[in-house]
Amino acid sequence: MDQCSLYEQILGLSSPWFVTGVELNKSQGEVVVQVDRDKHEPLTCPRCGRACPGYDSRERRWRHLDTCQFRTQVVVQVPRIQCPEHGCLTVNVPWAEQNSRYTLLFEAFVISWLRAASISSVSKQLRLSWTAIDNIMARAVQRGLANTPERESSQLAVDETAFRKGHDYITIVSNRLGQVLAVEDGRSQHSLGRFYDSLEDNRKKAIKSISMDMSPAYLRATFDHIEKAHRKIAFDHFHVAQMLTKLLNETRKADMKQADQSLRQEIHRSRFTWLRHGASLELEQIQQIQLLSNSLKHTGLVWYFKEKAREIWKGYRVKGARAAWNDWIQLAQLTGIRSLSALATQLEKRLFGILNAMRFRASNGLAEAINRQVQALKVRARGFRNKERFKRSILFHYGGLCMAPNPYE
Ligand SMILES: [Zn+2]
Repeated sequence: MDQCSLYEQILGLSSPWFVTGVELNKSQGEVVVQVDRDKHEPLTCPRCGRACPGYDSRERRWRHLDTCQFRTQVVVQVPRIQCPEHGCLTVNVPWAEQNSRYTLLFEAFVISWLRAASISSVSKQLRLSWTAIDNIMARAVQRGLANTPERESSQLAVDETAFRKGHDYITIVSNRLGQVLAVEDGRSQHSLGRFYDSLEDNRKKAIKSISMDMSPAYLRATFDHIEKAHRKIAFDHFHVAQMLTKLLNETRKADMKQADQSLRQEIHRSRFTWLRHGASLELEQIQQIQLLSNSLKHTGLVWYFKEKAREIWKGYRVKGARAAWNDWIQLAQLTGIRSLSALATQLEKRLFGILNAMRFRASNGLAEAINRQVQALKVRARGFRNKERFKRSILFHYGGLCMAPNPYE
């Protein structure tokens, strides 16, 4: 096989395209593959497909997969046609998408590599700028969103994550398969509202559960957009546990300030013991909690309520859970501990979502896992400076999208 037909095979070319020459430029470390088009074959408009007369031609270059470490460029005089309806346009070539400077195989290669390696390592290995990689990723996500069949959306999880520390949030909506369906700016009612708006009516109706934290913004958006939302919203155990843990910590700190100086160090040292599940404590730790409870004003009682709530979550099927929670709420309100009582009132208002979560056993663990992945992604990229890139990157890695171009389909 001569060199030209070899490269025709490598590029997957067929008539009317053919390779006319291959040049090795050693000083530049580059292989240049010259491709031409059979002049007798009719030209067609890339928009409407009708046969059109040729107008002129322009030289264009595409980067292809390296040949033996040499950067490989495909160089072609690409004809332009004159379409009566669409004007003067460059004809389509089978090895690349319109407006891309890379062949489809090269893009597919970059995409598959990016899924496993960091942007900086792909950039270094392939001698590609971050902007070039970003363009390939942007096209990949766009292609993925257009090509991927409708992703599962009957069980949703909504979560927020900070882009840059402490401010500028984004809202992430994922499905039960852990695929990110949407990344929206902000964490307001409108952030989630935009996602709901993007769904067709039948898909909106098919939603069975939406797992979320108790932020009023997501609640409001869901009540506004989803029918029978009070049967579908679920507050997972994770979120309730987090509220109780926070309350317990604050109570212990407040109590410590009033405790005897001699006990303070021991109280401080016990801080993690209080937070662990009662059932997992050593005898010694239980004794410590009992002993300290005598000297701390409210901590022991709040601890008891935290343990009790866990028991209800783990111990009850739906039947009986409502009564158990109502007891819990009433008792908590009777303690006279203001912060605990306020939390109980909040849970009372949101009880429907807690019971839904118990009914579905819907776990937001998946969304939390995605959030952790996103944080890891941020670290890997050494902090995204550009929010659009960050959002794109989440969809690229966790969207479950079919992003690779199909060469010569
Ligand atoms: Zn046309």
